[in-house]
Amino acid sequence: MKTTALAEAVVAGAEPAELARLDVPSAYRAAHLRKDEVGSFDQDDQDKDVRRTLHVGEVPMPELAEDEVLVAVMASAINYNTVWSAMFEPVPTFAFLERFGRSDARHDLPVHVLGSDAAGVIVRTGRAVRRWRVGDRVVTSPAYVDGEDPVVQHDGMLAGDLRAWGFETNFGGLADFAVVKATQLLAKPRHLSWEEAACNMLCASTAYRMLVGERGARMKQGDVVLLWGATGGLGGYGVQLVRNGGGIPVGVVGTQEKAELLRRMGCPYVVDRSQFDGGLADEKGWRRLGAEIRRQVGEDPAIVFEHTGRETFGASVYVAKRGGAVVTCGSSSGYAHEYDNRHLWMKLKRIIGSHGANYQECHEVNRLIALGMVHPTLSAVYPLEEAAQAARAVQLNQHVGKVGVLALAPSEDLGVEDHALRARIGEDRLRLFRRPL
Ligand code: NAP
Repeated sequence: MKTTALAEAVVAGAEPAELARLDVPSAYRAAHLRKDEVGSFDQDDQDKDVRRTLHVGEVPMPELAEDEVLVAVMASAINYNTVWSAMFEPVPTFAFLERFGRSDARHDLPVHVLGSDAAGVIVRTGRAVRRWRVGDRVVTSPAYVDGEDPVVQHDGMLAGDLRAWGFETNFGGLADFAVVKATQLLAKPRHLSWEEAACNMLCASTAYRMLVGERGARMKQGDVVLLWGATGGLGGYGVQLVRNGGGIPVGVVGTQEKAELLRRMGCPYVVDRSQFDGGLADEKGWRRLGAEIRRQVGEDPAIVFEHTGRETFGASVYVAKRGGAVVTCGSSSGYAHEYDNRHLWMKLKRIIGSHGANYQECHEVNRLIALGMVHPTLSAVYPLEEAAQAARAVQLNQHVGKVGVLALAPSEDLGVEDHALRARIGEDRLRLFRRPL
């Protein structure tokens, strides 16, 4: 794959004037899906291996709209939506692009460039962009929202045309260049490398809204919070946010190795779900889980942090305390949930739906990361050429925390500007998820 003068200048740390002078290439390297491969998995295919559908190659460079910037991507990360997209589930993402194409034709293409996280350098700004300049080092918020919708002033996540960038839009972050709205931009935390900076925003901001946000569970000091997948993408940030806010995290994980990592994170209560060999699908399993939480903590959770879906949801509703809340943003094990409604209404519990995070919530969690109060959970890093392999690791639940992808960054550990803050936090904490399990 040939590199361009612009990409080389970004990597060399060229001045903004130099970046502005160099031509934007007409094509760029990107991890993408192909529309002609929709339907390539059989309905009853047990293993929809994402390596079959996630390709890396050249795609055409789009035009930039007035309110957008072009980011030269140094690093990105795999999200679970990358896995859903490459399995063409629950619906092929090309359906999103077709719908979006009715208002913005650029997005409706036979290729879909994925990726909802990125860290990089701005190389072009649209004419209407005021707060950002060529040369700025940024990370991206994953919400793609039309700022003209009045409800955005209230809560951007309520916008009728809200889209997840790089999932419901084209030109995402798993590429050498990405197109984002200027409103999506946040300053890159200066003590982090490119790949550490790139892995946080989608999961950290989603967990923040779920736990802290006004429309989330609004955790209070002392709240017991049960977190499924506590060393996974969302859970790794969820545990940190609960601890920071004075809550009491109870982390659920699937192996003893992950249980050990959770303890190293400072999570005082750990449940290994593999001990429930009879499963958690019926009330017998729910009761065993509830009893285990009471045995360890002495009380029931005020909040259950849900994203695991069908296989856990009944248990989540059951174990939440009287008046407690289950806050959910996903359904990894299936989205048609069953739970016993008597446990919900008789004990006055609530189910709260949550999705992504608005820009203010993204700003707030990015600030915590920049202050060194929330740390990246990066566990592994792959080159962009191996993006499909990286997504496969997430698909098979072989990872912990976040899996990073290097795009233009030629190697790991580049991009750190604030070495003093890094030293104050300590490599041990910043690289906690990178130690072998
Ligand atoms: P992840 O990195 O794969 O982590 C998920 C964790 O869930 C795994 O570490 C695994 O931990 C646990 N898990 C998986 N299957 C399970 C099961 N059947 N029962 C219990 N635990 C199970 O994924 P993620 O990034 O955290 O995302 C999780 C889900 O949330 C995905 O469905 C994703 O699409 C969704 N999500 C939604 C939003 C949104 O804005 N709506 C944002 C982010 C993510 P153990 O095996 O250790 O238990």
